[in-house]
Amino acid sequence: MSTLKGTPLVGAQAGESAARIQTPYLVAEDELDRSLRPRRLEEFVGQESLRQQLAVAIEACSARGEALDHLLLAGPPGLGKTSLAQIVAAELEVPFVQTAGPALERKGDIAAFLTALEPRSVFFVDEIHRLARTLEETFYPAMEDHRLPITVGQGAGARVVTLDLPPFTLVGATTRTGLLTTPLRDRFGIQARLEPYSTAELAVIVRRSARILEIGLEEDGALAIAARSRGTPRVANRLLKRARDFAEVRMEGVVTAAAAHAALELLEVDERGLDRLDRRILETICSKFAGGPVGLSTLAVAVGEEQDTIEDVYEPYLLQEGLIKRTPRGRAATPAAYEHLGLEAPAPVGQPLF
Ligand code: ADP
Repeated sequence: MSTLKGTPLVGAQAGESAARIQTPYLVAEDELDRSLRPRRLEEFVGQESLRQQLAVAIEACSARGEALDHLLLAGPPGLGKTSLAQIVAAELEVPFVQTAGPALERKGDIAAFLTALEPRSVFFVDEIHRLARTLEETFYPAMEDHRLPITVGQGAGARVVTLDLPPFTLVGATTRTGLLTTPLRDRFGIQARLEPYSTAELAVIVRRSARILEIGLEEDGALAIAARSRGTPRVANRLLKRARDFAEVRMEGVVTAAAAHAALELLEVDERGLDRLDRRILETICSKFAGGPVGLSTLAVAVGEEQDTIEDVYEPYLLQEGLIKRTPRGRAATPAAYEHLGLEAPAPVGQPLF
């Protein structure tokens, strides 16, 4: 396996503080992710139709001895894109090679990866939307017919040499498909969007993780954690670990509903799974900007967070929960946001009084 250069490390520097427990994107892969990662398709919980689609495609191409079609996985961080990419390689019984868009700085970086691939390997490019535009087209001939034209020499003596590549499967992961250019997107034969998990599915994941980590977990403890994990397995696993700490130090060591609730309270994760920054975003829109709409960049400055992080990590869940809505002029709070914060919603503008 190759090294993962360029993983965003911002959150790792910030540590796993209470405010950050819900921000899977910002934390570099750690031991927890690795140890709890499902290894085979049958261990992968949820995403039923995608799983079936992959199972069929994998069986068919294995029988033919071909490489699997290129696969694009989209969805918010922590939903299982990396896990699925690794599972695809495991099911195909081929090597898994991993990098990330921002780590590929020059054409030579891509060439180094592609020319070293064994036939049918899975080449996983995380955050593929952050690949430099000028480099995207290097992938086109490689994806289409396993060719890699490279320029050798400089100036008048420069010439193009075409390298033959083994057939391989590019698995691209992105938090936002909208940021991929159409020519690149169109070259993925299988395109899938991972959806947030239901509470029941997350409870299955939490129970599995508890078994692996040998944590005593009661059924209602699992449900309490699942319900506040914002549809995200990575968040569920982190919350489970924090709840275990709490249960060990303050309770009998078993994660009961009471232990889970107390731990979540300590982490300032509320009953809807919102953390401090989620609430700050809502408060800012409601109080500072009179409910909005407010532009994303203004909002980012006001809450002191990166625009990308708000868009990739926070916004999807707030939108899904119906707490904010997107308008052409920016983000606006819904009546549900006011209700959640215990604030009084302003009277709708422009409505007749009588
Ligand atoms: P992404 O690449 O989308 O950010 P990951 O694949 O790294 O997400 O998933 C983060 C963690 O969440 C994994 O290590 C794994 O423990 C857990 N996880 C994600 N999806 C599933 C799933 N469908 N079933 C079980 N665990 C999962």
